[in-house]
Amino acid sequence: MLEQLFINICIFTSFLYFAGIVLRNSREIPIPMTLLIGIFSGVLGLILMNFTIPLNHNSIMDLRHLAIVTTAVYIGWIPALLSASIITIGRTIMFGVTHEAIVAALGMLVIGISCSLLSCLPSRRLVKIQIMNMFSLMIIFFSLQHNIGFPDTLKIIPYHAITSLLVGFIAYFIAEQIKRSNEQYHLLKQNATKDFLTSLNNVRQFDASYNQALRHAQERDEKLSLLLIDIDHFKIVNDTFGHPAGDEVLKELGKVLTHHSRSFDIVSRNGGEEFSILLLDCPHSHGMVIAERLREAVERHPFMITDDKSINITISIGVSTYPDTVSPSGEEIFEQADKALYLAKRTGRNKVCDFNMVQAIH
Ligand code: GH3
Ligand code: MG
Ligand code: MG
Repeated sequence: MLEQLFINICIFTSFLYFAGIVLRNSREIPIPMTLLIGIFSGVLGLILMNFTIPLNHNSIMDLRHLAIVTTAVYIGWIPALLSASIITIGRTIMFGVTHEAIVAALGMLVIGISCSLLSCLPSRRLVKIQIMNMFSLMIIFFSLQHNIGFPDTLKIIPYHAITSLLVGFIAYFIAEQIKRSNEQYHLLKQNATKDFLTSLNNVRQFDASYNQALRHAQERDEKLSLLLIDIDHFKIVNDTFGHPAGDEVLKELGKVLTHHSRSFDIVSRNGGEEFSILLLDCPHSHGMVIAERLREAVERHPFMITDDKSINITISIGVSTYPDTVSPSGEEIFEQADKALYLAKRTGRNKVCDFNMVQAIH
């Protein structure tokens, strides 16, 4: 019995692990994915049905109902119901349409419906699992006593209940570990690419996007404009209104820049009060127009630093474009935008400059 129980736990764990990998990249599980998990859970139930656990010389049990229970608790009622239907149909196909098979199959369907209803309970996941487990055991008890009679059912049901509750605990423990590890994975992934204050791309992601966008532009013969943006006299904002107010301004500026860019442009906070926008498929002349529009939008925008107080800030922008202002290798695009930004700062701030203006001065 222990050997079979161990095999069942291993099968269950492998499926949970596999489901965890499938769900790793989706925070909100889309409907097609939940259906896939429902099918997955149905297959798990059918496999568990083939690895029965002997209880005494003429009784066996299996843990297929736990596939439905776990799916109902962690994914939802639709895949749980799908799983129960697959197990019901699978069992009928495998064992034929006998009177016992119909009772057992109907029992499984009732378990699926009960678990779907119970999945709405507002209790902790472990409590939910074990409530559904007990409910399933009750339904199994009724179908068993119908099939093998009351005295035999009474003999095996305590073993059935203890095994089922024990595996319910193990399933909960493993599913929680997988859930937590997926959440940590999401958090790490987000922290590695996003700036925590503004939720824009961070400098590491900017670097990756910049290299990718440049390669893309070179391969497709497209233009790529880069805007480097720096807030003017931001130190004064911090010194006058405090660092938290400065943080609010940075957050708000992130929103303004995103709002005034196209959805496929790449807006990043490169560090401190420095931002950048990669304008994909955008020639230099158009890049200059967009930069000027952004500068004006920021100048006009009231930045709220408390509920009732707003301030105005200005930005300086340096612009460069592949291949309009740089060599075919595109290497100098960042350096050129940086020099143009420096020129904008040196020549009065709150303005847009490009590399042509830098060259005209020298
Ligand atoms: P300039 O017009 O020449 O750019 O002047 P500036 O004062 O904006 O430039 P400077 O580089 O001298 O100062 C940048 C300031 O940005 C200093 C620093 O305190 C502030 N800063 C950098 N990161 C943050 C941040 O995350 N939050 C806040 N509130 N301030 C920051
Ligand atoms: Mg600055
Ligand atoms: Mg700066």
